[in-house]
Amino acid sequence: MRISVFGLGYVGSVSAACLAGQGHEVIGVDVSRAKVDLVNAGRTPVVEERIGELIARVVESGALRATDDVREAIMGSDVSLVCVGTPSEPNGSLSTTYLERVAEQIGAAIAERGGWHTVVFRSTMLPGTCLNLLVPILEKCVGGTAGVDFGVAVNPEFLREGTSVRDFFDPPKTVIGELDPASGDVVASLYEGLPGEVFRVPIPTAEAIKYADNAFHGLKIGFANELGSVFQALGVDSHQVMDVFLADRKLNISPAYLRPGFAFGGSCLPKDLRGLVHAAQRADVSVPILAHVLSSNAEHLQRAVELVERTGKRRVGLFGLSFKPGTDDLRESPLVELAERLFGKGYDLRIYDSNVNLSRLLGANREFIETRLPHLAQLLTDSIDEVLEHAEVCVVGTRDPEVLSALPPGRGPMLIDLIHLPDAAARRTEPGYTGLAW
Ligand code: NAD
Repeated sequence: MRISVFGLGYVGSVSAACLAGQGHEVIGVDVSRAKVDLVNAGRTPVVEERIGELIARVVESGALRATDDVREAIMGSDVSLVCVGTPSEPNGSLSTTYLERVAEQIGAAIAERGGWHTVVFRSTMLPGTCLNLLVPILEKCVGGTAGVDFGVAVNPEFLREGTSVRDFFDPPKTVIGELDPASGDVVASLYEGLPGEVFRVPIPTAEAIKYADNAFHGLKIGFANELGSVFQALGVDSHQVMDVFLADRKLNISPAYLRPGFAFGGSCLPKDLRGLVHAAQRADVSVPILAHVLSSNAEHLQRAVELVERTGKRRVGLFGLSFKPGTDDLRESPLVELAERLFGKGYDLRIYDSNVNLSRLLGANREFIETRLPHLAQLLTDSIDEVLEHAEVCVVGTRDPEVLSALPPGRGPMLIDLIHLPDAAARRTEPGYTGLAW
């Protein structure tokens, strides 16, 4: 199939590369010239396990190329996957600006191209956005009727950053919201041969499923972290508690997101919880549980700040800066928030994160760091030793094996474990070792 993918961020670049790897002919489109140039040079615009080799291979074979020319992409494809960002507005509502813009551009190009084209939205958006906002824009720009003159579908993405390529080939489920069966068939054929159940549902249901997922992930993390904090205060090993809790086969609870650790963050869970709660408020529906998931998360972050304060030390090393291990994504990272709080309180900080360093070197997140985090950029180092030599206390928020091997038990600076290190149980008796839910 000939596919264009709009937005070469975390979702778009993984979708584009994996579909090209499956034998499709793919054109990636982005307004960022830097991302287009990176892809055309066979390099990845995001740091993710396996994505670098995959993009190099599919660009080399000619299965994937990138452009900033929408017309060229629509002329050269029969289906478009829209993967542009939907960030939070300041009031918590979901911004649809990029979606609206891309719908106008795709609609105008379809009008010029003629023939059948299917537009598939992968971005996360609140129920009603596609049918009430994007379909009217497309119909106006195409000059035709959705489902009759062109196809529309919603196909939410369930990848987890850090393991997104693996998740693409082994998805937990495939959800297809279809306006017309022909559009649903196009989406289904994109993923033919992949495992996991396929659910074909009305478009608003597909949009809502993504919110059910993300709200539940946030709720689970908050639940596990609150339990972890209380149990720790009561002198109980919360991880042992969770092991037994999760082993109850009759409850059949997935352990994902239920291990006490650090606060959650990233570009999805916080903004989707905010968007859902904002939508509930507008609809005059009271949702006290959902409304408090983010404040529970904020409390957890505050506990980490207090752990550092309690050490009485001033020279701090922070290992990890991205929002979770395995990615370079810094958006709404709780480690960035922690670093900023410590920096604001005058701590003398050094930061090491190999994925962030690599991404900075590639140029992928350089602009983000320079424009949004210039105050932290100067604290980032590419040397683990420099951090160790500097720090009286090290805060660990990464599972990077190089970092872990540089922190042998029983030696070195004091350690604050935010993520329950693999050898947490052995370290628990070490003087100078403390953490969140350890
Ligand atoms: P991102 O910010 O990493 O990427 C979005 C890209 O779209 C950017 O590169 C931007 O330059 C580009 N863009 C903006 N306007 C454009 C236009 N008119 N034409 C072409 N490109 C344009 O975002 P992301 O993390 O990949 O997320 C994309 C969507 O998928 C969001 O709605 C998000 O909520 C959802 N989602 C994200 C994840 C995740 O783990 N990141 C998982 C599932 C779903």
